[in-house]
Amino acid sequence: MKNLILIAPPGAGKGTQAKMLCKKYNLVHISIGDLLRSQTDLNESLKEKIKKGVLIDDNIIFELLKNRLNKDDIKNGFILDGFPRNLNQAIGLENIIKNIDVVIYLEVPKKELENRIIGRIICSNCGHVYNSLIEKLRPTNNDICDICNSKLEKRIDDTLEVFEKRYDTYIKETQPVLEFYKKQEKLYTINLLDKDEIFNEIVRILK
Ligand code: AMP
Repeated sequence: MKNLILIAPPGAGKGTQAKMLCKKYNLVHISIGDLLRSQTDLNESLKEKIKKGVLIDDNIIFELLKNRLNKDDIKNGFILDGFPRNLNQAIGLENIIKNIDVVIYLEVPKKELENRIIGRIICSNCGHVYNSLIEKLRPTNNDICDICNSKLEKRIDDTLEVFEKRYDTYIKETQPVLEFYKKQEKLYTINLLDKDEIFNEIVRILK
């Protein structure tokens, strides 16, 4: 199977697409953000950086990624979500793993991203994403997941102020990575908004 990278600004739906693709193709979803958030012994300075939407040191990220890519379950293919976030990470990845097949870039207008981030609530158990500000994405009960009945939570970095910071970092640090993969002829850009339409387009690309 294939190894994929998903690149997109905050709130574009990388995580949602990654979950759908993993299910269809039996891939492993590697989200650096999720790996960081799931660490119970994360030190205060790292927690603070995540809270403020500041990128974590490349060395720490490489360590996390190397450990994850060492596990056997990636043999059938994986999706990298939230990595690489800058050119240095993209170049470093080449020394860890050579066979990245496809890089998908989800292009979404800033205003749309802002709405999605401000209303985003996520199931603490199954990871399903809802939105309290978008009618068709609201959960039936305010803070309970429709799928597994677990509690819905807001990410600490999903505020307007932090979104601005994350978006800024994305433009300055992450966008240059697109050029890197374009030169390698691995980059596919999708500028759709509906999650099913995006998914179908990715499936078409993978064929
Ligand atoms: P995400 O869940 O991808 O939105 O990431 C949440 C936060 O985790 C980011 O705002 C960064 O603080 C940190 N983070 C995630 N991935 C990376 C990465 N590849 N490099 C540096 N920091 C990262």
